[in-house]
Amino acid sequence: MTFAIDLENLRFRYGGGPWVLDIPELTLDRGERAFLFGPSGSGKTTLLGVLAGVLEADKGRVGVLGRDLATLSAAARDAFRAEHIGYVFQMFNLIPYLSVIDNITLPARMNPERRARVDGAGVKQTALRLAASLEIDDLLRKPVTELSVGQQQRVAACRALIGSPELVIADEPTSSLDFDRREAFLRLLFLQCERAGSTLVFVSHDRTLEGMFTRSISLPEINEAALR
Ligand code: ADP
Ligand code: MG
Repeated sequence: MTFAIDLENLRFRYGGGPWVLDIPELTLDRGERAFLFGPSGSGKTTLLGVLAGVLEADKGRVGVLGRDLATLSAAARDAFRAEHIGYVFQMFNLIPYLSVIDNITLPARMNPERRARVDGAGVKQTALRLAASLEIDDLLRKPVTELSVGQQQRVAACRALIGSPELVIADEPTSSLDFDRREAFLRLLFLQCERAGSTLVFVSHDRTLEGMFTRSISLPEINEAALR
């Protein structure tokens, strides 16, 4: 079985600017729950962008689920992401003119492979089950613009999880929640990832959450481009 993530001599910079990422090596086993931390500006979001194939590495190997994204075209990376990666953005990026249920089902409707991995019950039923597990099943018909931040966060998590992507990436999705709600959200996220056998990469600068993960990665420690 290949690694979930397997980086070698990865380098990335924006335009002709200074190196933001210079990571000699990083591997992550499948099924791990990894906590990635580092101060603001240390390149956490940039690294997630490279792993998701949104940003193209300048050098090195970007192994994700056994594929080297560095060898794929931008279009092939987009297709790879849609099929294999669930992404919870820092600001959630929900589609404002769609209801809760339509936001959640979107990846499965847009991507045939994600749809095929939805269990026999179908896309709507699976969305309902996910929504129930995150306790937002009473909100399905609501416009997302009428939700609280905590509710939006759970919609974003359901959308990332539908169709059981092998890799789930979350970029500080709990930063606006209080501690109790953060922990409850994480437990629900872990449960769904475990059920689907998904690997989770979770970014936060809040070290109090670290103990809940199977692996802890300090970005400044593995990133030679980091200011130390
Ligand atoms: P973090 O998520 O850890 O706060 P980022 O990955 O957002 O860090 O940023 C890492 C560095 O890259 C920072 O110095 C930031 O200013 C720079 N950076 C981030 N996004 C861009 C961009 N689109 N263009 C140029 N520089 C950027
Ligand atoms: Mg960030």
